Amino acid sequence: MATNETGKLARDRTALLAEIATETKDPRVIDALSRVPRERFMPEDLREFAYENRPLPIAYGQTISQPLIVGMMTEALMLKGDERVLEIGTGSGYQAAVLSLLAAHVVSVERIAPLAERASAILRELGYENVEVHVAGEEIGWPEGAPYDGIIVTAASPDVPLSLLRQLATGGRLVIPVGSRELQELVRIEKTPGGAKRQNLGPCRFVPLLGPGAWPAGSPS
Ligand code: SAH
Repeated sequence: MATNETGKLARDRTALLAEIATETKDPRVIDALSRVPRERFMPEDLREFAYENRPLPIAYGQTISQPLIVGMMTEALMLKGDERVLEIGTGSGYQAAVLSLLAAHVVSVERIAPLAERASAILRELGYENVEVHVAGEEIGWPEGAPYDGIIVTAASPDVPLSLLRQLATGGRLVIPVGSRELQELVRIEKTPGGAKRQNLGPCRFVPLLGPGAWPAGSPS
């Protein structure tokens, strides 16, 4: 990358972290965001925009999420460091990298195999060793690794998939965008011995979650 681009990245990065800090108060989350090089998870021709606060296209019609939302969603999991976390929608692998700095182990699933492979390779290259990436199976999530203390869904769902509630440990938290294909509400579900507690965290917009319990996989993504 040319020196002037490196300078732009450094300036953008400082400004972006300041912007995220207005919404995300957990210093562990801010620290993790400041340590993960977002540009490495992006196509080369877009890297100069890596620290602008917006989602950007990766491949296969998918996107790397907006950094502010990554901060909000990560904070909503309330991680202490000893958790097993499941991410649905590996995409670029960026969110998985952030989670890996905040939890003991991360399982991330992606339905588009080449994206899963690319994310897995860059995560390994950058030394995020407590992350396993899988190509998603038929059921949403990764039941083989359940139960999870935290589940984060980085794609939009019409409702909370029951299969994910089943994969969540009692005491665990599920963070998921729920709504229409155009606009969703970020929702946190806490699974308590007495049932599920639901909290709305604000509007957001994600690419669709496809599969049983979400949108049909045959529909355009
Ligand atoms: N977390 C990603 C952004 C993901 S975009 C990042 O940090 O870059 C949402 C991703 O969810 C897309 O790559 C899409 O292919 C994937 N996806 C959609 N439905 C899925 C499902 N049922 N299981 C796993 N991944 C799914």
